[in-house]
Amino acid sequence: MDSNSITRTVASVPRQLWLGGVQKPSASGKTFEVTDPSNGEVIASVADACAEDGLEALALASQIQPEWAATAPRVRSEILRAAFDLVHERADDFAHVMTLEMGKALSESYGEVNYGAEFLRWFAEEAVRIGGRYTSAPAGNGQILVTKTPVGPVLAITPWNFPLAMGTRKIAPALAAGCTIIVKPAEDTPLTMQLLGQVFADVGLPPGVLSILPTSTAPPLTGPLMADPRLRKVTFTGSTAVGKLLVRNAADNLLHTSMELGGNAPFVVFADADIDAAVDGAMAAKMRNGGQACTAANRLHVDNAVIDEFTDKLTSRIAALRIGPGLDADTDLGPLINERQRTVVARLVDDAVRKGARVRTGGSAPVGPGSFFEPTVLDRVPSDALLLREEIFGPVAAVIGFDTEEEGVAAANDTEFGLASYFYTRDSARAARVANELNSGMVGVNRGIISDAAAPFGGVNQSGYGREGGTEGIEEYLDTKYVAS
Ligand code: NAD
Repeated sequence: MDSNSITRTVASVPRQLWLGGVQKPSASGKTFEVTDPSNGEVIASVADACAEDGLEALALASQIQPEWAATAPRVRSEILRAAFDLVHERADDFAHVMTLEMGKALSESYGEVNYGAEFLRWFAEEAVRIGGRYTSAPAGNGQILVTKTPVGPVLAITPWNFPLAMGTRKIAPALAAGCTIIVKPAEDTPLTMQLLGQVFADVGLPPGVLSILPTSTAPPLTGPLMADPRLRKVTFTGSTAVGKLLVRNAADNLLHTSMELGGNAPFVVFADADIDAAVDGAMAAKMRNGGQACTAANRLHVDNAVIDEFTDKLTSRIAALRIGPGLDADTDLGPLINERQRTVVARLVDDAVRKGARVRTGGSAPVGPGSFFEPTVLDRVPSDALLLREEIFGPVAAVIGFDTEEEGVAAANDTEFGLASYFYTRDSARAARVANELNSGMVGVNRGIISDAAAPFGGVNQSGYGREGGTEGIEEYLDTKYVAS
């Protein structure tokens, strides 16, 4: 796209709330600004949803809920499939808007359009496969029929790091299951979800089924919604701290909850690994999305027998990454989402260096506009460095050595989180053993990217609970009903 086309695309992004699928200004009359993290300039102003808007969306959702639940699965499926096609047709718009508001390199935004759309296709396919079970009662005196029913109106709260996929991963299974849904996108990146609202309006999703409510301040909108007995579920992707707060709030109304929370993924390289493949995998696991992914490799644990070779190769790859605005053709790495995030990353790097880590490349924020941080490799990271405990969420690779398999696995598991882990080995017995021993909801064996719409995504321990994607993903939106006869 040339700059005029980009300007036209941005101008065409719907600016009002999607209230039950219809564009309406906020009852508060307020709007808020969305900025480009590569230069701090305002891209657009969108309606700022308030409590009244939320309750109106919920009234519409609960009114249409029975009808939507009774809509033929095939019809729900075809709506999702049509949305999948339309997102692809509009891939240029989605990718450019996503890069503008979130900062990631354009090629990565196209990657997310594919990944995000895939949930629409996957759950279009799952919508027609919702099943139950049937058995005879062991006493021989009756039949046990188990069926599935939609849980009811859902509230989805999404983060800024994958503005499309974190939405479709919740919207698609909810619609497939027969649930209505209200989406509150992250305040930094509401525009991509606004485009998705247009897609669903254009494919004929019935009014009331989906609302999209951008807001500058979440609690005044989400609080009254979660307290309302018509809401039945909250699904959240974001930080562990906010997730815990939401679970507490959900208790009063006994809402179903799905919590996709923070991570602290270890990436373990054993001495028998293919080192070049491990470096490729580390580049993907660490640098995708500028390191701003909950599955991002946060700690690189490398056998001391190969640590020099691995770190040298990784350093030369990371040092070669070009940072710049995501829309520039030669950019590999865009800015971080905002100044706040850049401050967090700088604080973690400074802490590690002060405690003795060595900077192999990068290490600071470049001078100039935009919330950029240099792609960084630290080695000799001491065990008390904060970045081994906290999510970095930036382009910083922290390398730590180990001597035995046991030591490597123990170091990898030394975290309260448990979302993803990765390891590289050429020994198949070790691969089976270590995959079993790593305490996380997802494990990548000799690969640095594991996300797949057909796989159950989710964590254990402080990374939350619930699964998105796969055949498991739709279960989160279904209740179980037992009929005795
Ligand atoms: P965040 O928790 O600050 O915000 C996430 C969302 O919650 C945003 O929409 C925000 O507006 C909303 N929110 C914040 N406070 C709220 C409150 N009090 N009540 C209701 N809503 C509130 O997280 P973030 O910084 O936007 O996202 C980064 C975090 O998300 C990281 O910790 C990352 O690991 C996690 N994440 C997890 C997954 C996963 O699937 N496990 C995926 C992506 C990101």
